[in-house]
Amino acid sequence: MQPLLDRLGRPLETLRVSITDRCNFRCVYCMPKEVFGRDYAFLERRELLTLEELARVVGLFAALGTRTVRLTGGEPLVRRNVEHLVELLAAIETPTGEPLELALTTNGSVLAQKAEALAAAGLTRVTVSLDSLDDEAFRAMNDVDFPVQRVLEGIDAAAAAGLPVKINAVVKRGANDGDILALAEHFRGSRHVLRFIEYMDVGSTNGWRLEDVVSADEIVRRISERWPLEPAELERPDATARRWRYADGGGEVGVVASVTQPFCGGCSRARLSAEGRLYTCLFAARGHDLRAPLRLGASDDELTEQLRGIWTRRTDRYSELRTAETASLPKVEMSYIGG
Ligand code: SF4
Repeated sequence: MQPLLDRLGRPLETLRVSITDRCNFRCVYCMPKEVFGRDYAFLERRELLTLEELARVVGLFAALGTRTVRLTGGEPLVRRNVEHLVELLAAIETPTGEPLELALTTNGSVLAQKAEALAAAGLTRVTVSLDSLDDEAFRAMNDVDFPVQRVLEGIDAAAAAGLPVKINAVVKRGANDGDILALAEHFRGSRHVLRFIEYMDVGSTNGWRLEDVVSADEIVRRISERWPLEPAELERPDATARRWRYADGGGEVGVVASVTQPFCGGCSRARLSAEGRLYTCLFAARGHDLRAPLRLGASDDELTEQLRGIWTRRTDRYSELRTAETASLPKVEMSYIGG
């Protein structure tokens, strides 16, 4: 089957699906409390795509060649019946007859309770956001006083359930860059792959400044001064993380460098919001409404034509074009579109 290509020749490989705009954390670089407070108007239940509607849309993407689906949020595990959604998605066949790769990105807060059921439902792998091992710093970054120990227990539970686990740590200068070595040391030699993420100008509420970015080069240099690193090949052509191997055999570490080493050239990701808006870039300002045609009775063929049209017209490459001016342009919120 020929992959569906956008205007820059990038195939539609991955669909990131935000299943809720709510979260039980208030991470300062994503969902600052000052904005996402008690009065914030989150999506109401009737505005959300139902689990069946989500599965239908994912089925259409699978038929167009999408192979990987990543469930995100907000915090996806605060939505009810996620296990049932995973079951529905696990039953979808791709044109090659292979099942979809089903991944989930979570803050790990309730993973210890849910890992086994998610694995049994058909989840393939999990990524846990963990910005610090220092309990005080972690509580400050999630801004809801949530203890780091419970996230570590979630990671252990996912591994015990047989799920491959990756760890994502967003590094913000002055907030947690002092924890880079502690995180590296903790996951070195473990079967969990740690990836550091450059702090990004996502959305319009996190007060992003370039000087708060710790570059991939600096992160690698800091680690390498302690444990020498060697470059490793990309995991797959559209991978976002650059991989580094510990020279002493201590495993690998990755860095996602959207700001200093953009990777738009291989970007094969579309993003669906919980209310059914399709975005072709993390830094887009507007999305395409799929919920209305879905609920007005559009056929699979009609919806597929809409998806085909959106992707084949796609030219996004925000990170390659980023300037100080673009950083302040209105963009979809990270907590709404799921990173
Ligand atoms: S900036 Fe947009 S086009 Fe570039 S890698 Fe990110 S999501 Fe893809």
